[in-house]
Amino acid sequence: MDIADKLEILADAAKYDVACTSSGIDRDAQRGKLGNTLAAGICHSFSADGRCITLLKVLMTNVCVFDCAYCVNRCSNEVARAAFKPRELADLTIGFYRRNYIEGLFLSSGVIRSPDYTTELMIQTLEILRFEHGFRGYIHAKAVPGTSPELVDQLGHLADRMSVNMELPSSQSLQLLAPEKNKQNILAPMRQIKENIAEDKDTRAIMRKCTTYMAECKPKKKTRAFVPAGQSTQMIIGATPESDFHILNLSASLYRTLSLKRVFFSAYLPVNEDARLPANDAIELNREHRLYQADWLLRFYQFDVNEIIDEKHPFLDPLLDPKANWAINNLDSFPIEVNTAPFEMLLRVPGIGVRGAKSIVRARKRSTLREPELRKLGIAYKRARYFITCNGSYAGTGADFSREGLRAQLAAPIQGGRHGRRADKAIPGQLSLFEQVDTTKPKIMRPGECQRFAASTDAASLADAPMSAASPAEARALPQASADPLATSIPEWFAPAVSRQPKPDASPSRIASPRWDSGSIATQGFAGRERAVASVRA
Ligand code: SF4
Repeated sequence: MDIADKLEILADAAKYDVACTSSGIDRDAQRGKLGNTLAAGICHSFSADGRCITLLKVLMTNVCVFDCAYCVNRCSNEVARAAFKPRELADLTIGFYRRNYIEGLFLSSGVIRSPDYTTELMIQTLEILRFEHGFRGYIHAKAVPGTSPELVDQLGHLADRMSVNMELPSSQSLQLLAPEKNKQNILAPMRQIKENIAEDKDTRAIMRKCTTYMAECKPKKKTRAFVPAGQSTQMIIGATPESDFHILNLSASLYRTLSLKRVFFSAYLPVNEDARLPANDAIELNREHRLYQADWLLRFYQFDVNEIIDEKHPFLDPLLDPKANWAINNLDSFPIEVNTAPFEMLLRVPGIGVRGAKSIVRARKRSTLREPELRKLGIAYKRARYFITCNGSYAGTGADFSREGLRAQLAAPIQGGRHGRRADKAIPGQLSLFEQVDTTKPKIMRPGECQRFAASTDAASLADAPMSAASPAEARALPQASADPLATSIPEWFAPAVSRQPKPDASPSRIASPRWDSGSIATQGFAGRERAVASVRA
């Protein structure tokens, strides 16, 4: 099996891991080394539907000795299996990185032989990346439950972020659907990672003080920081009966006790036939979305979990976001005067985000804020106006200031604007590396143009046009001139920079080996790559 086939299998198998996240740390480039990370996020490129895809998200292997009911890679499934050798994966990552396709690596794995053996393979890969290639870019590594503490420690010194998947929101559910895993195996590495991060930070803080004693015992070789971007976890939502109340309380306690950076929620995707799984095939993407909104309120909007949800109403309102729901249930706190209200209250107004609240506090020092100023500051005025007064006058004049009246206004889908346009384009589920997303904007024709086009031969030829290749395997089977260079030229990526030199002539071979404009691809990511491929083909 060649590397392209392995990549196709293992990148596709990794799409169920949700980890579109920013790096969370700053690290400058260094002479003689490769790569850097930005705290603002390595994920600055987005696919057409808004998903960030600049991490190479891949499995070390999809061979697995476990049999988790919900997982496509479980040992009882008959699927194509593959495994990377550590050097193959490290070289592939560097190949992608040098061409600006990715800015980091997200590495997960099925359990091959044992958790320790799997982790050793991951460690070898990261060692090649970090020490042989001098790679300083972002790496997110999954810790396999049941791995020995020494190996978790070793892996943590090579990765920027680590995560141990909780998988399911309760130990009973875990026992039902993933009987080979248990609560202890999952929580032990999470606790170890938390303690090691704290210890590492303390040691570095003492070292920075450079007391005489520390100067004497300073280790000669500077070790890498332990998981500098913190740890995260992931839970599957909807495969088991736990309520949102249970899930949010669990998330809040994970943030509190294990200092997690993120809890990811993944709507259950039915990929297996199993009596233990829900009979209903509906994917609860809206529920996943509401949980993320609630999670955001916990982390950035100073909400307590009891303010968002209670035991009597254990599920989040599917029609209303949790912040708007809190606002209409607490109408006695509104309207607030936008020119004088405390920052904490501004944060609670639907339509005002953290950045908006900060901008308001800054701007109102210089002038009185009314509708035009608020719109200029990027406030979603259509939503916020029901809950604010601007210089003494109520901004939502004409609205029914009651629970039912405001609920009807706020539950309506957002039309137009940035949010509305994004919602129109959303594609359900996780994308695989090779999935094609149509990024072209439809051409809007003026009335006259439309009739001329309908009468022309172009319209007839459009209907006869062959479909583009649906899968990478088909894409590879196409003649070279129309094949995707990403899928066809993987072995050549291991060659040094010489393969990136422009060819001297303008022969047709240039179409098969396009000269990449690395600058533009760097800023546009995969969407840029697709546009570049399209332009080369044209
Ligand atoms: S251990 Fe991971 S890869 Fe293996 S079956 Fe369970 S969820 Fe799937």
